Amino acid sequence: MARLIVGVTGGIGSGKSAVMERFQARGIEAVDADDMARVVVEPGRPALAEIAGHFGNEILTAEGTLDRPALRDIIFSDPGAKQWLESLLHPLINKELRERLSRADSPYALLVSPLLFETGQDALVDRTLVLDVPEEVQLARASRRDGATPEKIRAIMAAQLTREERLARAEDVLDNEGDWPQLDLEIDRLHAKYLALANG
Ligand code: ADP
Repeated sequence: MARLIVGVTGGIGSGKSAVMERFQARGIEAVDADDMARVVVEPGRPALAEIAGHFGNEILTAEGTLDRPALRDIIFSDPGAKQWLESLLHPLINKELRERLSRADSPYALLVSPLLFETGQDALVDRTLVLDVPEEVQLARASRRDGATPEKIRAIMAAQLTREERLARAEDVLDNEGDWPQLDLEIDRLHAKYLALANG
């Protein structure tokens, strides 16, 4: 079992996936909160039936899976619906995260989540690492990756903590404004630090 759990967060395009891959390449296990958010609504899971019961079968595809765009449309225009959905899913996601983290077998493990602080998932971790980039870099990298307009990326950023709010809550900060070699140096620095903490 991992002796230290580090919660990794940052806004869209800050480098969470890139950072997660680099820690994994160093033998560190990582659980992605976005993946778990998909797992808890898979067909056969009780949450999917509850969601269909609440919103109607329109939110199911012909194959019986969750129609995410349809659900997104509903909650986008209805804050009450969003709140209902979150109070159903957040405890299920946290349970899944807790179980998978407890099975992690590296000296320390990562919980990677875009909404670590927003959803209270920081309660599941021993320390927090915030990936920090200026907003222009976030916009440029995320819109290039997704082929999305800056407006679309801005709308997602608006639902997340601001850079300042996130930094204020960080225990460790990874500056990811630089190039790939600079990122690797940052990962090496943090990996050494977390190994020392886990072994300390
Ligand atoms: P997130 O998971 O936080 O949304 P990603 O890890 O997908 O962010 O990174 C966003 C984009 O920026 C990806 O296309 C990624 O390859 C690129 N990227 C991340 N870090 C760097 C870096 N240090 N230098 C150059 N490109 C980067």
